[in-house]
Amino acid sequence: MSVRKIKNTFQGIDTTDGAGVHLKRIIGSSQLDMLDPFLLLDEFGSDHPNDYIGGFPSHPHRGFETITYMLNGKFRHKDSNGNEGILTEGSVQWMTAGRGVIHSEMPEQTEGLVRGFQLWLNLPKALKMIQPTYRDIDHSKIPKEDFPGGTIKIIAGKYNDIEGPGRPHTMMLYHDVNLEKYANFNLPLMDGWNVFIYVYEGNIVMEKNVSKNNLAILDNFGDLELTTEKDSAKFIIAGGKPLNEPVVRGGPFVMNTKTEVMQAFSDYQNGELVK
Ligand code: MN
Repeated sequence: MSVRKIKNTFQGIDTTDGAGVHLKRIIGSSQLDMLDPFLLLDEFGSDHPNDYIGGFPSHPHRGFETITYMLNGKFRHKDSNGNEGILTEGSVQWMTAGRGVIHSEMPEQTEGLVRGFQLWLNLPKALKMIQPTYRDIDHSKIPKEDFPGGTIKIIAGKYNDIEGPGRPHTMMLYHDVNLEKYANFNLPLMDGWNVFIYVYEGNIVMEKNVSKNNLAILDNFGDLELTTEKDSAKFIIAGGKPLNEPVVRGGPFVMNTKTEVMQAFSDYQNGELVK
């Protein structure tokens, strides 16, 4: 069995988005444009209300899926299809923007800690204009498995024979793993898939250490084997089959050609993004 090595590591870049929400942009920045099929990864995390209170007021999307995973705090979402829900600790919101949604994502609290991740998963060319869907996945619906030295929450894809509740439109996996000190974690991976690990607490050890706030991109063949030493660790791992299709971004729209992005802007301006 071959074991994946680390191809590259990156730190997130501090930025703001929405109405002044402070976040770390980990994928989708000038240093790491994308990791096919992943277009963006943001970590938001603060116990200062001024860093999150503005939220993400009404804005559009077309052409991909957003997966929001809350570690702490509460966010309320509303969309142009009349969906509304509250995202609570440990829950996931899976939005397939498809041909278009306009939605808002706003904190449902005025104090305390808000922390989580938003991952953008590209849609294949053939599915970019499908009807949008919104799913709130309660924390109780996310399988949590114990193994010696740790636990894993399976958001999408499989761990052993347990399948997560996420229903991506392209082949991918997404897990949250907590490890104690001096523990091992192994995960079989599909050859050819792009896989990243983002450490959000502590430190993991592969052929080198990857510490808090660092993203490790793995090479493309073999399985995952990692350990912890004197520090415990919490990390998310996501992997996906590359789409290998052209990607043209225009803010909240991600299409295959410039013309399609221009069309999305004009549909939004003309009130035809959502029908
Ligand atoms: Mn959004």
